[in-house]
Amino acid sequence: MSSDHSHSHAHGPNDAGKNIAVAFFLNFFFAIIELIGGILTNSVAILSDAFHDFGDSLSLGVAWYLQKISTKKGDSRFSYGYKRFSLLGSIFISVVLVVGSILIVAESIKRFADPQDTNAAGMVLLSILGIIVNGAAVFRLKKGRSHNEKAVLIHMMEDLLGWIAVMAGGILMHFWDLPFIDPMLSVIIAVWVLFNVYKNLSSTISIMLQEVPKDVDISDLYNDFKSIGKADSIHDLHVWTLDGESHILSVHLVMQENVTREEVQKAKESLKQIAMHRGIGHVTVEVEFCDEVSCCSYYKNPC
Ligand SMILES: [Zn+2]
Ligand SMILES: [Zn+2]
Ligand SMILES: [Zn+2]
Ligand SMILES: [Zn+2]
Repeated sequence: MSSDHSHSHAHGPNDAGKNIAVAFFLNFFFAIIELIGGILTNSVAILSDAFHDFGDSLSLGVAWYLQKISTKKGDSRFSYGYKRFSLLGSIFISVVLVVGSILIVAESIKRFADPQDTNAAGMVLLSILGIIVNGAAVFRLKKGRSHNEKAVLIHMMEDLLGWIAVMAGGILMHFWDLPFIDPMLSVIIAVWVLFNVYKNLSSTISIMLQEVPKDVDISDLYNDFKSIGKADSIHDLHVWTLDGESHILSVHLVMQENVTREEVQKAKESLKQIAMHRGIGHVTVEVEFCDEVSCCSYYKNPC
């Protein structure tokens, strides 16, 4: 693509990439700590959160990798560039998360039927550690502005919530004999993971089905294009998105009779300006004239 397709982010991709890398290692480190802690305390709730953190670090790792790949320009094999690879990443992560959540829910159901002893004091201790480290990470990431950093921040905050729930459950189980609380928390965390998979997957599928991007109002665009000077009408207006951020538009612009070359150029230019102002970076216009046979028949009997 040419250099006029620019995106404005608060700061450079290197900065965002570094923050994602930090979040990736933090999450991965935590997943391992939780895996060990979950086995030691025999808490399926902590194991469920370990899996949640593992899933998060997997998506962070993929996002980190794609951050590098997606900036590659189009080549003779992938003429649109590599932005759509993020869709592949999100489908891969969704499959991993669905399989893992089902395994965890199955284990939790077994524990409802056959309650097991969990080390409640150990759960509380581990959750205090988790709240401190996760809280520090949330505080640090609060400054980040990019899409990716915001997503990372949301994950960190929900992790913080998970730890608070584990702490509350541990306290309850320490003072009362309530063994069902641990598998119950585990199922809640797994359902939360599945809910996020559903949200993520449905937006990925919308992109693959070439739905008009949510931040673009196509009837608004249509009206703005029609009011361009010396334009007669427009048709075949298509808007879709490569990855949810980089939008593509194509349209047929029918000019009035007896227009000059300059008027055509001006109309094309203002059409591109209107599209750019609405965040559409890649615009293709086919200009038609009213005396073109195909165009006039379309104009008289629009299908
Ligand atoms: Zn281009
Ligand atoms: Zn998360
Ligand atoms: Zn966690
Ligand atoms: Zn046409």
